[in-house]
Amino acid sequence: MTLKHFRKIVIVLLCILLFARVFVGEEASLWKESYLFENMNDDCRMEEVKRLSREMKCFPVREKSEMEFENGYGGERSYGGPRKHEGIDIIPKKEKDDTYRVCSVADGFVEKIGWLELGGYRVGIRSESGFYYYYAHLASYQKGLKEGSKVKAGDVIGRMGNTGYGKEGTKGKFIVHLHFGIYRQTDGEEKSLNPYYLLQYLEEGQRWRYSFGERY
Ligand SMILES: [Zn+2]
Repeated sequence: MTLKHFRKIVIVLLCILLFARVFVGEEASLWKESYLFENMNDDCRMEEVKRLSREMKCFPVREKSEMEFENGYGGERSYGGPRKHEGIDIIPKKEKDDTYRVCSVADGFVEKIGWLELGGYRVGIRSESGFYYYYAHLASYQKGLKEGSKVKAGDVIGRMGNTGYGKEGTKGKFIVHLHFGIYRQTDGEEKSLNPYYLLQYLEEGQRWRYSFGERY
């Protein structure tokens, strides 16, 4: 085989690899969307699932391998009167206050920052497509973060804590965790949706992308 032939073969092989990668990526993205839709269609339209799966780029805690969460959306809560749990609690395997880095899952801007009786120190980020991402019970905020600040997916916005359920500064009424919620405008009202399946995807990311079928 001459060098010329060898070069040709290498080029053809590279083209096949590139094509396969693009094709597999497309398939995976369609598969991901249909998996998400199958599990989320009770409270979400397909178009919303698509927007969410595209704009949510990273897990909301940097130390994601040290975190656990389950599908606790809709559970009963009693503080401040009977109500439903409007998000997912992400809990560290080892309890450490003011340590784990909470980051924005999507690009957007800080719409709300400050104390809430239920949410403690919280940050609310509005994405370009209009979803509102809610991060509650923080121990501290990232320096310089204020209303109107622009954030990119992955930017650290604060540290995980256990603040809330009282007047400003109250902490320790429950374990250290991040309460993560997603809201969207429906008929002029801000309504929550279940972030569980999206978090599941973000947690596993690339690993999940190429393991077709395992979850069915
Ligand atoms: Zn919660």
